[in-house]
Amino acid sequence: MAKIKKDLEEKIRRAAKNRCGYCLNPQELMPYKLEIEHLVPKASGGETVEENLWLACRECNSHKAKKVEAIDNLTEKTVKLFNPRRQIWSEHFEFSQDNTEIIGKTACGRATIKSLQMNNFYQTTARSAWAETNKFPPKD
Ligand SMILES: [Zn+2]
Repeated sequence: MAKIKKDLEEKIRRAAKNRCGYCLNPQELMPYKLEIEHLVPKASGGETVEENLWLACRECNSHKAKKVEAIDNLTEKTVKLFNPRRQIWSEHFEFSQDNTEIIGKTACGRATIKSLQMNNFYQTTARSAWAETNKFPPKD
């Protein structure tokens, strides 16, 4: 990844409320630094500029990789992945009642969850532990 200037990185972290734009994993609960990701991957011509950068956890970022779209199993349509800079999380996702799973409310939400494996074993195990601490999910 191209080197991102510290002030730009801080601006992105602030805008992203210091949490993953996809699964909302908060920095304070992660044992590593959340990553600055390219919304449009560099491989697809995405530039290293503020408008194309957001914050993501390693799980989401590594599963997203070079993808820009995915199939929604319900409608069987190919849709663009969720864009945390342009779209509103709560319009596309919600947490299950026990706060361990993320549920897709739209084709975009469902396709993104599946593509980024947002409900894999590691993610749901962590959420289930965090749910008991009252620190997750974020209230805002
Ligand atoms: Zn994530």
